[in-house]
Amino acid sequence: MTSGEFALIDNFFASPAVTRADVSLGCGDDCALLDIPPGKQLAVTMDTLVAGRHFLPGTDPWRLGWKVLAVNLSDLAAMGAEPAWVTLAVTLPAIDEPWLDAFMQGFSTLARQHAVQLVGGDTTRGPMAFTLQAHGLVEPGRALLRSGAKPGDALYVTGSLGGAGAALKLMPDDEAEVPDALRKRLEQPEPRVETGRAIAGIASSCIDLSDGLAGDLQHVLDASGCGAVVELERLPLLPETRAFMQRHDDWQLPLTAGDDYELLFTVPSLKQQALQARLPELGCEVTRIGRIESEPGLRFVDEAGIMRQPGHAWDHFADED
Ligand code: ADP
Ligand code: MG
Repeated sequence: MTSGEFALIDNFFASPAVTRADVSLGCGDDCALLDIPPGKQLAVTMDTLVAGRHFLPGTDPWRLGWKVLAVNLSDLAAMGAEPAWVTLAVTLPAIDEPWLDAFMQGFSTLARQHAVQLVGGDTTRGPMAFTLQAHGLVEPGRALLRSGAKPGDALYVTGSLGGAGAALKLMPDDEAEVPDALRKRLEQPEPRVETGRAIAGIASSCIDLSDGLAGDLQHVLDASGCGAVVELERLPLLPETRAFMQRHDDWQLPLTAGDDYELLFTVPSLKQQALQARLPELGCEVTRIGRIESEPGLRFVDEAGIMRQPGHAWDHFADED
């Protein structure tokens, strides 16, 4: 960027909302210096949100700032890691101070909730995009992998499914008509950090749902070398999502729509009691939606026990870009 770059960094990014004792050096030098506590592993993840692809131009900046952080904290949650530090690459077409102020307020509100410190980043001019790298801490051997599911394990999901997808489908028609509950699911997802921490040591596998249940569950099955049955009538749905599905005759929505940022995890029968004991610490509802089986493949059954097959999950390169 131009000479405005440094003023921009100073005004919006250099004074983080959270300061942690394990940050020896934050924003301002060529690198940040971070103290990894003895006996912890670093969990590292990165996600990019591009205007027009991951969010609609005109999205409320406060909620966008929240979401940029939320989608990365969701990945840490899916590993059972505790969020610690983030770096943020910002690409902006122009400097719009009120917009950036609102963006950073949304970002900082979520950062405070999880005691995450912004320790550095990069600021450039170009088509609007945000890339965040998040660093979390986890005890060696306790990280939740996609590869640990075993036949007989129960399959659980946090929160509710399909709400963000319903909002996304309704937006182009009449934005004002999108129910607030659905809109919030799309624009301000709750990363399930407490749940991820609480099920570490209990769940045999875990993934966060960013691209739709069908596709993301398949990742777990591929990594674990097994299959699964999901009972459609058990899927947790907000009333607004259920109403959308009925109105649009769209039973596949909770399976194929992305952006839910819920956790999908498996629990062996020997750990069921431990899970029940932890329910108060999870920070959200969890619902048992099916089970892992040895027969490969993903099977969806309705309340009559009839098998139903949904379409494909979201894939950035599946369509013509
Ligand atoms: P360099 O040229 O050494 O990469 P920069 O001029 O890009 O340094 O950044 C100066 C300082 O400001 C660095 O410490 C960098 O981490 C921080 N910084 C730049 N952009 C951001 C941002 N968007 N968020 C947080 N910190 C940032
Ligand atoms: Mg730089």
